[in-house]
Amino acid sequence: MSLAPFAAHDETSLGRVYAEAPPTLRGEFQRDRDRIIHSNAFRRLVYKTQVFVNHEGDLYRTRVTHSMEVAQIGRTIARALQLHETLTEAICLAHDLGHTPFGHAGQDALNECMRDFGGFEHNLQSLRVVDLLEERYADFPGLNLCFETREGILKHCSANNARELGELGRRFIERRQPSLEAQLANLADAIAYNNHDVDDGLRAGLLEVDALREVTLFGREYAEVVQRYPQLAGRRLIHETIRRMINRVVTDVVSTSAERIAAAGPRSIEEVRTQPTALIVMSDSVREEHLELKRFLNAELYRHHRVLRMTNKARKVLHELFEVFMHDIDLLPEEHRLSATMAESRAGIPARARVVADYVAGMTDRYAISEHRRLFSPAEPS
Ligand code: MG
Repeated sequence: MSLAPFAAHDETSLGRVYAEAPPTLRGEFQRDRDRIIHSNAFRRLVYKTQVFVNHEGDLYRTRVTHSMEVAQIGRTIARALQLHETLTEAICLAHDLGHTPFGHAGQDALNECMRDFGGFEHNLQSLRVVDLLEERYADFPGLNLCFETREGILKHCSANNARELGELGRRFIERRQPSLEAQLANLADAIAYNNHDVDDGLRAGLLEVDALREVTLFGREYAEVVQRYPQLAGRRLIHETIRRMINRVVTDVVSTSAERIAAAGPRSIEEVRTQPTALIVMSDSVREEHLELKRFLNAELYRHHRVLRMTNKARKVLHELFEVFMHDIDLLPEEHRLSATMAESRAGIPARARVVADYVAGMTDRYAISEHRRLFSPAEPS
């Protein structure tokens, strides 16, 4: 499979922060993908919430199965557009490494806790994980990933944070675009969760097929499946509908993006970066349908009272964990206590808060729940 000139290329990568000899058996981005899979943060995704907390059921998506679905969708689009499939996969697999336990409720809670200390943002945290927090290699901290992989991981960033990130933050200040691989990983994320959340919401009994039929994207594919397979019912009917929804959106992204790329005519990844707008996009009509589904999920699933009751508990657990460690760092495990003490003596209270936030953000759902119990219930061993 040949790579388009506007794709990322191993040979012209902007490189790693710490120079390394080129890999002998793999490409540069393949090495990045492998490092991500070997990381601790990646394995923790197994026990981190997507929408449903890990103990709510074995079949729901977790962060790791979500990330794999994102990667799978991303690779399909990358291949169809002659973009770098492995770089796309690496970005997709790493995109949620910085997520807190308990999904978005956890991220919001930690952001509130960190309000006076620079805030907390899961995208930026994913970058922190791969740049600093992973401890695996003798020669450098973090995973020392290529610029293009890090560029893809950093989806959003405030201007203030961007200024501290040097070259990587430049595009947020100058309003430049990231690589096409990064753009498509971003879309693959949205396609994956919109569709699998329909599946998980129905499985949980929080969504109703009748209500979903009113949503254009679902309703149209559902009607087609019913017409073509009148006997089909239950799970197969749902799954056949959802696979067609994914196919419809993915096909649309490929054809619309191919047109945009042809019209803009970038000859290199650098020319992609200087485009005024993103080139990996959905058509207007499919984007509207996708947004309609997203609004539906927002109202009917993410704000369902059963989900809210759980997110409320999750928020409380994270707030209390953060507060108790901030108040008394002697309660932190030794390694984190030493980092917190050192950080504080170097850069004051915000630096201490950052170490606490790193520790709390790294927790899996079940670790956060048991750590909370150990700290707050006198009946538990500490
Ligand atoms: Mg995601």
